[in-house]
Amino acid sequence: MHTTWYLSGARLVTAHADIANAALVVENARIAAVGGAAAMTPPAHARALDVSKFILVPGFIDLQFNGGFGHDFTAQPETIWQVAQELPRHGVAAFLPTIITAPFEKIQRAQSVLQNGAPENFRGATPLGLHLEGPFLNPQKRGAHNVAYMRLPDASSVRDWTPQNFVRLVTLAPELDGAREVIRALCENGVVVSAGHSMATFEEAQRAFDAGIAYGTHLFNAMPPLDHRAPGLAGALLNDARVTVGIIPDGIHVHPALVDLALRQKTAAHLNVVTDAMAALGMTPGKYLLGDFTVQVDETSARLEDGRLAGSILNLRDALVNLMRFTRCALSDALATMTTTPARVLHLENERGDIALGYFADLVLLTADLRVAATMVQGQWAWYDAQELAL
Ligand SMILES: [Zn+2]
Repeated sequence: MHTTWYLSGARLVTAHADIANAALVVENARIAAVGGAAAMTPPAHARALDVSKFILVPGFIDLQFNGGFGHDFTAQPETIWQVAQELPRHGVAAFLPTIITAPFEKIQRAQSVLQNGAPENFRGATPLGLHLEGPFLNPQKRGAHNVAYMRLPDASSVRDWTPQNFVRLVTLAPELDGAREVIRALCENGVVVSAGHSMATFEEAQRAFDAGIAYGTHLFNAMPPLDHRAPGLAGALLNDARVTVGIIPDGIHVHPALVDLALRQKTAAHLNVVTDAMAALGMTPGKYLLGDFTVQVDETSARLEDGRLAGSILNLRDALVNLMRFTRCALSDALATMTTTPARVLHLENERGDIALGYFADLVLLTADLRVAATMVQGQWAWYDAQELAL
């Protein structure tokens, strides 16, 4: 039996609303009522919780997350559920476990892990399906991926890549031979296709958007720099209102001034903050795995031996605060980039990313200085700070 919760008194902030003294009812994993506390009567059977010292916001959604807390999903897909249990401490309620360029058998293993479902008594962030970043990438923009596993796009190998088979998002390089057919096939399967790790020209990128590409993976990273005479993929992603772009606001992957530029140009509706976090997230500096490679991690970054960036150690709560610092945007806009916007990218905007009637009860209580005090996932408290809240 799920507890019915009545939360009242918080300031509720979402992409579209800012309500002082709000109240909501959570029943059977979903939001059963929401509005001003003055106009609401708590259901008799509900457990009431005064949350008046907090800001109540939607649970965060991370579309690019390679692992954390010592585990790498590409090296060991079996760790997805274990790592998912740690994510609510950073406000994350849902995410796409990301598998970087690897043999197809590895992708099948990751699909099986999600197919088998959560272990008993699981309380953690919901995996919404995989983000497959590769193997159809351009070796010239390999980043921290293993070129030995990169392949040309081939429609016959993506037939079973569907949301029902736990594939949600695929990053590929649209300039590669065969990409057009694969983009079409994936779009028909209901998979979101993204351009990334790519040398695509501006014109090639535009044709890829025409073919169905709707997203750009970590804008500015693993693509040629923005050149005013040859705007390339970065210019096309910035310029085209049809596409949403992922961005990593750790202050290292992209200069804060260009994060600001990207937000102004794309708006919060088409800018999606991701962490691209890797195994060292939540751990001490040292050596960690990303796919096949050993990555040296210090206090702020994760790099290969030659200095190339290899994922981040950013968490979404810090990303929220960084975005506000880099751009001076409002909390509602910063929240949009990691709630309503990723939900819409995945075509889940009618049940995730917002606090509204019938939506999954994915909620975060933030302190006044925007620390995560508690995270609810589908109606259950998945993590809370006992210093802040007694549950
Ligand atoms: Zn990447």
